[in-house]
Amino acid sequence: MSSPVSKAGVLDRGIAALKGIGPAKAELLAKELAIFSVGDLLYSYPFRYVDRTQFHRIIDILPDQGTVQVKGRLVTLTVKGENRKKRLVGRLRDESGAALELVWFRGIHYLDRTYKVGEEYVCYGKIEEFNGRLSITHPEMEPAQQAVVEAAATFEPVYTSTEKLNKRGLDARGRRKIIREVLDGLTPADLPDMLPEYLLRELRLVSHYAAVRAIHLPANQIELDAARRRLKFEELFLLQMRLLQLKVSREARVAGYTFEQIGEGFNRFYRDFLPFELTGAQKRVLREIRHDLGRGIQMNRLLQGDVGSGKTMVGLMSMLMALDNGFQACMMAPTEILAYQHYESLEEYLRGMDVRVAFLSGNIKGKARKQLLADLAEGKIHILVGTHALIEPPVVFQNLGLAIIDEQHRFGVKQRAKLWKKNRPYPPHILVMTATPIPRTLAMTAYGDLDVSVIDELPPGRTPIKTVHVTEHRRERVFGRIREEIAKGRQAYVVYPLIEENEKLDLLALEAAYDEMLHRFPRPEYQISVVHGKMKPEDKDFEMARFKNGETQIMMATTVIEVGVNVPNATIMVIVHTERFGLSQLHQLRGRVGRGAKESFCILLSSVKLSKESRQRIKTMVETTDGFKIAEADLKLRGPGMIDGTQQSGVLQMRIADLAQDGRILSVARDRAKDILQADPDLQQPEHRLLGRYLERHFKAVKGWSLIS
Ligand code: ADP
Ligand code: MG
Repeated sequence: MSSPVSKAGVLDRGIAALKGIGPAKAELLAKELAIFSVGDLLYSYPFRYVDRTQFHRIIDILPDQGTVQVKGRLVTLTVKGENRKKRLVGRLRDESGAALELVWFRGIHYLDRTYKVGEEYVCYGKIEEFNGRLSITHPEMEPAQQAVVEAAATFEPVYTSTEKLNKRGLDARGRRKIIREVLDGLTPADLPDMLPEYLLRELRLVSHYAAVRAIHLPANQIELDAARRRLKFEELFLLQMRLLQLKVSREARVAGYTFEQIGEGFNRFYRDFLPFELTGAQKRVLREIRHDLGRGIQMNRLLQGDVGSGKTMVGLMSMLMALDNGFQACMMAPTEILAYQHYESLEEYLRGMDVRVAFLSGNIKGKARKQLLADLAEGKIHILVGTHALIEPPVVFQNLGLAIIDEQHRFGVKQRAKLWKKNRPYPPHILVMTATPIPRTLAMTAYGDLDVSVIDELPPGRTPIKTVHVTEHRRERVFGRIREEIAKGRQAYVVYPLIEENEKLDLLALEAAYDEMLHRFPRPEYQISVVHGKMKPEDKDFEMARFKNGETQIMMATTVIEVGVNVPNATIMVIVHTERFGLSQLHQLRGRVGRGAKESFCILLSSVKLSKESRQRIKTMVETTDGFKIAEADLKLRGPGMIDGTQQSGVLQMRIADLAQDGRILSVARDRAKDILQADPDLQQPEHRLLGRYLERHFKAVKGWSLIS
């Protein structure tokens, strides 16, 4: 990264010329950490600070003390163990007379040569207890003398490093020296503020220059906090500015059809055919969509709504808006079975209306296909439902006005682009529906340039799913529960993990489990379906259909049933090895039950011993069925880059802001960015010029932007 606002280009300078670096180290920094320029160095912020004012007496340290800093003499240093167990072990004794063990598993020989027995060191690290002895693994160590010299700063920054860098003297201390050198050579004019002055005043933010200095060399906690707050705001604000700019320019660029009419079809359906009252959330979303469709700009809207929140009805009624204005519409789903399910429910909802709905997939062939394509081209088919087959070249609409894509994350951006080309002169409006709830902070960032609608309310009259956690040694009871449900004429899902890395083992386990199930649920009284990710799609569909029709009572499956399958008669789901599933996956799975009016159950079966994180996941599942709450918990547990539906977005790599923590700063940043763009869309006012220039140059260089469409 470089700072385009500094004219002199100090920040664009390479780092080889800096004192203490030179060509070889410069190359290493570039290779290991992608640090090329002075700016890169400055904008690689420390991830932690060591409070140099505090030393612990070893004798006082408790096993659960956390991180400590001690000063003492290295009394022994020995290589122990063989091969994989080889390690370097040292003992550090301080004035209190007690000693602490120091252990290294990596860089053994190098460190063995570097550290000297008899010398005094300052050591920093996390306390562990092993066989009643206190130790620190891979402590940060430096000779006490150097530490004293350096201790002008009370908070010492610690940077990401690598072993290669450490060996070349670019460890924490080396980096600090260089950073200090760089900062001492800069004046405020080299780091002008891209944020307008009035914003700093109103939000009480320190200047960019002051913040960058203090983030590296804070004098105290207060200064550090102020720097952090400023830089987090800056990062989130600039990103939101950029996303909103993209949105504005896309809207200016991509004209769309104007659906002026809320016409006869829509009104008739609403009056005579709608089988239930719409929820408040459905109504709100329909208003949002209607607004989009009426303003001559192509709609690009993401509709998020938990499983069962009634997205299909919203999709249907949006399609009626297109039809009323003389256009066709289509709805696309990632699998044949899901697409067919949509087809069936649309047919059902629309029975009695003069709307022709057709279904297309790769399996519709020959004469039937030819006829369908001819009717579509002539506009005799109003709504086409299907799989990706819809976007293949031979499929030509007469005039496609709206395309709905269900389950967004299975469709790539490229496929969406194909859809765009399906119509002339304007591309169809696009509504993407996803059942993967994305936390608000992530949605604002990953999809910040799209319009996002949320259905955050379930239709009334649902009986909430009862979720319980059961450990392996009680599994007998679980089979008993399944038997009870089946005795009531209901059906059961039993879900097994299938993880790619040990797919073979998992399939073997599934087979063994099948044998066990056959034994417990013997034919002909019981019928069992098995579906897994390695089966041919036709076989899968066949088994799914048998279960759906009630020919089998138990569906044993890997996660293939995750998306969209609708079997209201299934009232119990057992998830085996729950600890191996992610939170959002568990949530999606659970959504397969509780789809009818009957009370439903989800049993999370797990081993007795669980990691802290697994326990937290299971606890979350037991406590709530709210997809957004679950997504928030997932974000806190795993961090932003791992959340389903956002991986392809390159904008989530933050330098200092944390989407799991900084939601409030983000909201303020987004609001202020909106205000500014509304008042001064081209950033022409004098107080916004630097900001405008910064955005223009800075974001050109950032990867990942092209992925947002
Ligand atoms: P999603 O696609 O969001 O998972 P669906 O559209 O499949 O949800 O709807 C789930 C079920 O709820 C369907 O049976 C649908 O008919 C029903 N439903 C949708 N909206 C309402 C509503 N407002 N009131 C009652 N039932 C509804
Ligand atoms: Mg759906």
